[in-house]
Amino acid sequence: MTMQPDARGAIDYELVFRSGPGGLVVTDSENSIIEVNDRLLLWSGFAREDLIGTSFARLLPPADRILFSARILPLLHLEGEVMDMSLTLLGKDRTARAAHMSAARLSRAPEDADPDSSAASQNLFVFVPRRERSADEENMIRAIMQAERSDALRREAELDLEQAAHYDALTSLFNRSGLLTRIIELADDLPPLSEFSTFVLGLDHFRVVNGSLGRAGGDQVLRAVAERLMTLSAVGFLAARVGDDEFVVVGRTHPRGVAFAETILESISAPILVDELEIVVTASLGASVARLDSSERIQPASIAETQMRQATTAMYEAKASGRNRWKLFSSVIDDSTIDEIRLLGEIRAALADDQFRLDYQPQLDLATGELHGYEALLRWDHPDRGVIGPAGFIAVTEKSGLINQMGAWACRTAIEQCALLNREPDARPVTVSINVSARQLGDPRLAEMVGALVRDNRLDPALITLEITETGLITDSPRAHRNLELLHEQGVRLAIDDFGTGHAGFAYLKDFPVDELKIDGSFVAGLGVSVEDTAIVTSCIDVAHALGMRVVAEGVETRAQLDRLAELGCDLIQGYLYSKPLHRDAMQSFMSEP
Ligand code: C2E
Ligand code: CA
Ligand code: CA
Repeated sequence: MTMQPDARGAIDYELVFRSGPGGLVVTDSENSIIEVNDRLLLWSGFAREDLIGTSFARLLPPADRILFSARILPLLHLEGEVMDMSLTLLGKDRTARAAHMSAARLSRAPEDADPDSSAASQNLFVFVPRRERSADEENMIRAIMQAERSDALRREAELDLEQAAHYDALTSLFNRSGLLTRIIELADDLPPLSEFSTFVLGLDHFRVVNGSLGRAGGDQVLRAVAERLMTLSAVGFLAARVGDDEFVVVGRTHPRGVAFAETILESISAPILVDELEIVVTASLGASVARLDSSERIQPASIAETQMRQATTAMYEAKASGRNRWKLFSSVIDDSTIDEIRLLGEIRAALADDQFRLDYQPQLDLATGELHGYEALLRWDHPDRGVIGPAGFIAVTEKSGLINQMGAWACRTAIEQCALLNREPDARPVTVSINVSARQLGDPRLAEMVGALVRDNRLDPALITLEITETGLITDSPRAHRNLELLHEQGVRLAIDDFGTGHAGFAYLKDFPVDELKIDGSFVAGLGVSVEDTAIVTSCIDVAHALGMRVVAEGVETRAQLDRLAELGCDLIQGYLYSKPLHRDAMQSFMSEP
């Protein structure tokens, strides 16, 4: 087919065909290509001679060939045109280009109609590529895509934040706040008066696990424990990690009741594989049970917090009574509890009223035969009942938060006393030891407070020793450990009190910055009498010396005990033999005695 310029004007129709804005193909009645324009050749990569005389279908992939014969050709035949179909144009190199296609049957005006003319059944196909977008379009699309992407990024960031706010990064369990949020949602779904159980778990000796496996190994253990707790969600429990090695499990009380705690403990103590090493970790568990009483309109979150606190108390009881066991928090208030509450009120008033004092028990240096220092011991000058020793009030005070206040008072008083004793610059230095309860070690301000007191009194920190019981050491509390480290860094000495009566044993000693070991009086009493006690005292002294610690023997009442201790190389002794605890006014005369 050729086209002649139209006589009516200067329009070059061939030029229009060749370089119009679409790819154009003309086919005959057999659907063979009889003409293509330059733009189509450009897009398809074919040369004109590749296409002329060949089937139009070769420009389409198989799926579109079906569309062509089944739909496009019948439509052209019936209606004379096909508008804006989405097709794929197959290029010479077989690359597929998405295109819009319109087609029309080419027919002359009726007066020109020549039934014999082949033009009667010619079709014109117009392709416009779908992918070739304008720069503006491209920019717009890019902008939209970018907006979508940053939207997705924002959503992702929001999810990350939500993740960090509510989940524990190491184990993917809930964290404390995530757990509380879920409990509130859960409480809404529970029927009123539902009973639910809260379990708080502390891994036993996790510090030791961490120490022997390394941080990464410790993390593996935590993740393994978390996975086991996660499976409890199958029975409707929520699990969270709320501290380094502390987990909480909460849910509607199991049909087995709180004894479900045993199932939890069993699942944890199954061996864990860490770097092909089988590790068994155990946990101590505290349980607490509460009823959700919607009529009382108590916030589920505050119930949950109380439950967690109570379960934590029970967990510490479980630890103290030997670990790898569970205890139910008991809120039953019996007579003795009422007595305790009354006593606590009295102690609080006595603190405000300055009824407490410290007595000081001298310690003898066996090598020099001279006074080494004093241990400060609390006394309560009760207005009605006379002098009360620590046995009458320390335990109750420790159960309440009041021990922090009492301990702070004791620290301040003892440190000031120590400064007073060391007032003479040329005199031999005298030490003061202060008893610190396990609970105080958990007070993050302890190290700071002691440091400030030592500085304010311009005292050599090495003259102050803090006595901690073994229980204080083995709480596994990272905060207690941090306190000990900070105190040690400040130069304050640390002693283990009542050594041998707790659960710590020698293994713990090398993990803590301990300077002094105090052998409990009960072993000293058996010196030379009981083979076992004698062996314990002997090995305490040997091990302590091997670890560079000094040894104090407590409760020394006889000359025989003193001689034996001197023989064994004990550094210091303290006991009625040398001196009973002294009132602070009696110290000066004790020191000036020959
Ligand atoms: P502890 O630290 O083991 O103190 C030694 C206890 O043994 C003192 O009893 C002391 O009076 C007594 N003792 C000293 N020499 C002898 C002796 O030769 N024979 C006998 N049988 N006993 C002797 P105390 O003063 O009744 O203190 C009892 C416990 O109260 C202390 O045991 C200590 O754990 C605690 N405690 C005392 N003061 C404080 C304090 O300021 N804070 C805290 N948290 N606890 C304190
Ligand atoms: Ca002590
Ligand atoms: Ca002691």
